[in-house]
Amino acid sequence: MKKIIIALDGYSSCGKSSTAKRVAAQLGYAFIDTGAMYRAVSLYLYENQIDYTHAEAVEQALANIQISFQFNEERGASDVYLNGVNVESEIRKMYISQLVSQVSSIASVRKAMVAQQQEMGKQKGIVMDGRDIGTKVFPEAELKIFMTADPVIRAERRRLELLQKGDDVPLAEILENLQQRDLQDSTRAESPLVQADDAILLDTSYMTLDEQVAFVVNHHHAIVEKLG
Ligand code: C5P
Repeated sequence: MKKIIIALDGYSSCGKSSTAKRVAAQLGYAFIDTGAMYRAVSLYLYENQIDYTHAEAVEQALANIQISFQFNEERGASDVYLNGVNVESEIRKMYISQLVSQVSSIASVRKAMVAQQQEMGKQKGIVMDGRDIGTKVFPEAELKIFMTADPVIRAERRRLELLQKGDDVPLAEILENLQQRDLQDSTRAESPLVQADDAILLDTSYMTLDEQVAFVVNHHHAIVEKLG
C-alpha cells in the first residue's frame, strides 16, 4: 500500500493529537505531535531562565536543545524527550501552555523545529499534528485536515484531561488560555495558523473520537486508492 503524509492542523484542544494517535495506530503510520516539540523548547527556556525576547540567547539555547521521541507501550504513543529526559507530562502543565505561543512565534525556534519535522516525514507514512503542517512543513501533504470546535467544548475536554492527571484547573482559566493561544497562533508573523486552501475542514464539536478517526481514515483510503 502506498504511504502518504497526513497533516492535521487546527485550533488548540480540538482533539488533533488524540485523533492523530489513533489514525496512526490504525494505519501503521508514525505519529508526531509537533506541539510537544514547541512545548519542550519552552520548558528548556523556562528551566534555564532564558529570556525568550532575547533573540541571541534563544539561538544559543537552540544549539543545546535536543528533542526526540520514544514509543511508550503503556500510552500507545511516543513520549517527548528533552536532552534525553522524558518531559511528556511536564510539558502539558499550565505554566508551559501559558508560555508556548510566545516561544513558538520566534523565527529561529520555528526554523529549527520545521527542519526536524521535515526530516521525520521524509519516508512518508506519517501523521503529523500542529498548526503549520499543511501550510509550511509539508505543503505537498496528500491529505490535509483542518480541525476546529466550539471553544467551550474544547475547554471542557481539556479540563477533563488535566483532571485525569490530577491537575484541577478552573474552566475559565483553560478557556482563556485556549483563546489567547488561538489568537496568538493565528496572528503571528511566522507561519500563522491558517487553513490551507486544499485542507478539509473538520468541526469536532459534536463528534466522538471514533467518528473523527473514521473521518480521517476514510479520506486516507480514498486518496491512497486514487494514487493506485
Ligand atoms: O498542539 P499543542 O496545543 O500542544 O501546541 C502548543 C503550542 O505550540 C500551540 O499553541 C502553538 O503556539 C505551538 N505550535 C506551533 N506550531 C505547531 C505546533 C504547535 O506553533 N506546528
